[in-house]
Amino acid sequence: MKITIAGAGAMGSRFGLMLHKAGQEVFLVDGWKEHVEAINRDGLKANFNDKDIVEKIPAVLQCDIPTDFKTDLIILFTKALQLDDMMQALKPIIHDRTDVLCLLNGIGHEEIIEKYVGLDHIFIGNTMWTAGLEGPGKAKLFGTGSVELENLGEGQSAKAKEIANVLTEAGLNASYSDNIRYSIYRKACVNGTLNGLCTILDCNITGFGTCKYAHEIVTSIVSEFAAVAKHENVSLDVDEVIHHIEETYDPETIGLHYPSMYQDLIKNHRLTEIDFINGAVAKKGEKYGISTPYCKFLTELIHCKEEILKAK
Ligand code: NAD
Repeated sequence: MKITIAGAGAMGSRFGLMLHKAGQEVFLVDGWKEHVEAINRDGLKANFNDKDIVEKIPAVLQCDIPTDFKTDLIILFTKALQLDDMMQALKPIIHDRTDVLCLLNGIGHEEIIEKYVGLDHIFIGNTMWTAGLEGPGKAKLFGTGSVELENLGEGQSAKAKEIANVLTEAGLNASYSDNIRYSIYRKACVNGTLNGLCTILDCNITGFGTCKYAHEIVTSIVSEFAAVAKHENVSLDVDEVIHHIEETYDPETIGLHYPSMYQDLIKNHRLTEIDFINGAVAKKGEKYGISTPYCKFLTELIHCKEEILKAK
């Protein structure tokens, strides 16, 4: 299968590398010049489960995509705020039969993708894989993960299962879901609490989790997500989600980890995905007449921090 990875950062590198190793025809598209140059010059390097490997995968800058290029599947792995520009850049290679799989964190990306691709060709999902970038052309990939995905268009479940099979054959452990919006909202609750709160409070997950007010704040945020999700016929079990979040506080598991938003904003002064997590809930809440003060406030605080740090 001809697969284009659109957004070849940490996660795009993981998926591109594993699919390429499995024999798929992979093509990387990215907006970071030094990264694309390094991949084309030296191959995509990775520390892959403690082993240094190199995969020779063609990469191209998103402003230089060849117009005669055909692809069967596009897997989107930009940051949420880069998605619209990437879809715009991909326009020349999107044809009637091009399928698009979106695995970004956050809510509502389909509203952007639908501007460029018919519903029958859009697949959404989420992933428990993780990845990091050590610098241009070099990824750090360890641990295990999974992918869940579903078709947006009616009657396209066979295609969704076919895509899941391709990912699974590459070791990406993918499965078809018949309730992907539930999984997306559930994961967004984790990101919508730990990401923004650890970033603003300048602490790791255990640091936040051991605060006296942690339970109350998490309950308020998750309840806002659940109220908005309910309006979209997604039924979150608030207690189960809170328990799921609180399990991450354990320093023996991932508690000592600083969430990706912290790394992006505090360490690297990069803009965040907050508008697609808490910001999306606040916006939907306004539209549905649901009060979401915690999500709105956290979104505003993160934007203030972005301004203070002159994030780009
Ligand atoms: P990323 O920041 O590694 O890459 C996203 C884009 O930013 C890529 O185009 C990349 O080339 C570019 N970029 C990265 N570092 C840059 C730099 N220093 N200068 C210029 N450009 C740079 O993002 P990611 O972690 O791969 O995340 C992609 C999506 O997947 C997001 O929605 C994220 O929330 C989600 N996600 C990430 C992980 C993870 O462990 N990284 C896990 C699950 C989901």
